[in-house]
Amino acid sequence: MSGEFDYLERLPIEPSETIFSWVSRYHYRYGNGSFKMTTESLLGSRRTRIHPYLPSNISYINTHFDVETLVRDHTLYSLFAYFGSEQDSKLLNSMCYGPTGVVESHRAKASMGIQAGHYFCSHCVEEYRTRTGLGPYVIHDQFPGIDCCPMHGIQLQIIDSSDEGIDRKLMLPTYKRTSEEKSAYKNRLLAFKARELVNVALVAGERSHQQHQRYYLSVLKQLGYVFDSGQLKMESLKTDLTRFYQDYQPPLGMEAVTEFYFLGPMLRNKTSFNQNPFHHLLLSTWIDYTVSIDDSRFKLIADEVAPKRNIDDEVLVLLKTGKSIRDITLKLGCAHSVVRRVAALNGIKLNEAPRWRHHLIIMASLGRDRSYIAQKLGLPIHVVESEISKVKGLAKWRLELEKMRRWQRSVFMIKHAVTTHTDWSRQNVKTAYNKEFFYLYKYDRERLEELLPPKMPARRRSYK
Ligand SMILES: [Zn+2]
Repeated sequence: MSGEFDYLERLPIEPSETIFSWVSRYHYRYGNGSFKMTTESLLGSRRTRIHPYLPSNISYINTHFDVETLVRDHTLYSLFAYFGSEQDSKLLNSMCYGPTGVVESHRAKASMGIQAGHYFCSHCVEEYRTRTGLGPYVIHDQFPGIDCCPMHGIQLQIIDSSDEGIDRKLMLPTYKRTSEEKSAYKNRLLAFKARELVNVALVAGERSHQQHQRYYLSVLKQLGYVFDSGQLKMESLKTDLTRFYQDYQPPLGMEAVTEFYFLGPMLRNKTSFNQNPFHHLLLSTWIDYTVSIDDSRFKLIADEVAPKRNIDDEVLVLLKTGKSIRDITLKLGCAHSVVRRVAALNGIKLNEAPRWRHHLIIMASLGRDRSYIAQKLGLPIHVVESEISKVKGLAKWRLELEKMRRWQRSVFMIKHAVTTHTDWSRQNVKTAYNKEFFYLYKYDRERLEELLPPKMPARRRSYK
């Protein structure tokens, strides 16, 4: 099958079209009748089954398509990554370079027992066909668990791709108008939110999956589903979710989802438990609804929260009184950065440490005497002492410095004495430089021994 790349260039992929959809269109337009040959030439694999939302071998489509764009806009990779399925690019690699256990396990986990296949809305397809002559499957409709078109409120139709399915082949949306069924309101609500999540995931940051749990917990707290101890009121949460979803009609095979067994792991586990996007969808839709209907709970709690300590306000009050950063952080127990931020936001020049402080620290570090520093800077001596004690390690350093100086001074004086008075005995040195002699005697006897004149021979007593 030669020359397929030329054909590919002439068959652009539609916005949000699934890979299966594009391969199917290609097949019916340029294929030679064999599904296997088409998939082999496009995806490097003779497997005819192309997964609806987490397909593999994407990097093989090495024509004018950018692999990153294919993955981002034409699969549900972003959605799964947004909800924590991606780890070290394993999912992405698996999707790009062929199926591995990673992508297989995500597919299996996401499927939740729903009918496997390619979903589409017959109305949407028809409108698309009228406009462009094409009728692709779009990625939004493949959100696992979604069975309704949010625009038309009708049930999605499906081209079965499971083992029992008739196809195992490439197929474009085909339908009978008579099989259209109106969806339940809650199913439509979920479909709307699902579409929103797919779009949000496209622009979400790399680490945004870590924020879901925190967000849920903060909203649940405001809605009163968290005890003072921080524990979740799980039963009450489940009861309210059940009430909300009582008119929801789960797709066949997915009935268990309304038991909300996933809530515990999703909300309690501290390691951002990797959950099915549909579980997030169920909780987020309920949260959106509960917050939006404003049944006074949210507002009530918000009001209670308002009088709560607002650190920014407290910092601002102190800043206005001219307090220094240090005073403010000590008084309020907040970080320096908080004070700096509030000051910057309010255009307040910070009352930084007084000018003399820098000078004081330098002199103290040089080991200058406290009274000398006090006199030099015109400060009371207790201020000098207090400033020195505020700098971690400075007092200890001064002590070390003092020891070093005394040692140096003692060595110098003894050396000087011995070289100046060559006739002096050890006793003479000891008498003249008593302090220095005993300092070295106590702390560095070896050095003292080196410096002193040789010992005088013991005087013999004459018994004459
Ligand atoms: Zn539709």
